[in-house]
Amino acid sequence: NLSDKLDKALHVLKGHGQITEVNVAETLKEVRRALLDADVNFKTAKAFTNTVKEKAMGQDVLTSLKPGQLMVKLVKDELTTLMGGETAGIDLSGNPSIILMSGLQGSGKTTFSGKLANYLKNKKTKKPLLVACDVYRPAAIDQLHVVGEQIGVEVFSDKGNQDPVAIATAAIAHAKENGHNVVIVDTAGRLAIDEQMMTEISNIHKAIQPQETLFVVDSMTGQDAVNTAKAFNDVLNFDGVVLTKLDGDTRGGAALSIKSVVDKPIKFIGTGEKMEAVDVFHPSRMADRILGMGDVVSLVERAQEQFDEEEARKLQKKIAKNQFGFDDFLSQIQQIKKMGNMKDLMGMIPGMGKALKGIDIDDDAFKGIEAIIHSMTPDERSNPSVINGSRKKRIAKGSGTSIQEVNQLLKQFDQMSKMMKMMQGGGGRKMMQMMNN
Ligand code: GDP
Ligand code: MG
Repeated sequence: NLSDKLDKALHVLKGHGQITEVNVAETLKEVRRALLDADVNFKTAKAFTNTVKEKAMGQDVLTSLKPGQLMVKLVKDELTTLMGGETAGIDLSGNPSIILMSGLQGSGKTTFSGKLANYLKNKKTKKPLLVACDVYRPAAIDQLHVVGEQIGVEVFSDKGNQDPVAIATAAIAHAKENGHNVVIVDTAGRLAIDEQMMTEISNIHKAIQPQETLFVVDSMTGQDAVNTAKAFNDVLNFDGVVLTKLDGDTRGGAALSIKSVVDKPIKFIGTGEKMEAVDVFHPSRMADRILGMGDVVSLVERAQEQFDEEEARKLQKKIAKNQFGFDDFLSQIQQIKKMGNMKDLMGMIPGMGKALKGIDIDDDAFKGIEAIIHSMTPDERSNPSVINGSRKKRIAKGSGTSIQEVNQLLKQFDQMSKMMKMMQGGGGRKMMQMMNN
């Protein structure tokens, strides 16, 4: 994946005493390849590496950072810039503020309309109204009603009325009469760009003059996402992008390219089907994620596929109640052992990819860990926080390891349990917070 590839590229510089034109060029060639592989637009990738190169060459070699670190920082800063730099908010100044959704069918407009309504409603000062303007599929109207019911937000619809402009206009009048200060207009999309869809959304846009026109796009569609964004932006000159389905196995290329192609900020990300699975987009956090977090999501997904359902349910309960202990860790190791290719799996754990470079991993790699856990008392296993200095000494001795190894395991365990807790339902926001730490 992109993280690994960038990691590998940046690794080239480790061990070099200083930045030279040659090692920068070599590194950036790899970085560029990694970006292209991740579906980043060619022009974007080229501009990206050129900028980093200029910045790298302009650096005083006497800086306190090592060349490798400096490059990581430059690449991270540049990724952040590429994705828009600052977090961009949405304009809620109108009364009502009108927010129009645009995008292809299946991109996640209806789901995001609900998420946004829920997000705003939770801010207390906002009373949103959802408007169903997908007039082609009665099921789409029902879908929005289901969403509205779920989050306790009123939905305005007019089944049988085939004119979305009329519906939107009536909805705004309804909002004014009933004290709704935000109107979220969900629209119809099609599977591909076509003229009728563009004319329709453009007519709605002209008629209701929204404060915010958001373009919703499925991040899994890669390079197509960029083309679609361009087509919609040409017609709507939209204000921001919503990148959905970032919880899946996405390549990240869309997040990197869209901003630079249409010059509009990504404002929100969707990270799941639930109404809570939405986050404000933070460019620097996304850059962190791309660079250093490893592919935690797919690790967890893969683990879940393999884990016996019952086990997984028990584990989830424990994690939710903060009762995840070393015994569970031990049984996880046993599960992981069943899953084959250790190195691949470990590489998906944040920070582990680097640590594992050039190391051969087999199941024996867990021997030390298992020995340490076996040397813990049941109380220590369920309550690792009681493990003080003298206990560490005893555990190290009992397991034939060193105190450093015990400390390392405790630290890894701590990180892992935090991670697991955050991976539990709708934890996107917390996850992102953690990434920023
Ligand atoms: P629309 O046609 O643009 O209105 O798209 P929908 O809102 O109906 O979404 C299409 C499908 O994508 C539905 O099955 C949603 O549950 C799903 N979906 C939407 N957003 C997300 C997301 O952020 N993550 C995941 N995993 N699924 C999503
Ligand atoms: Mg829809």
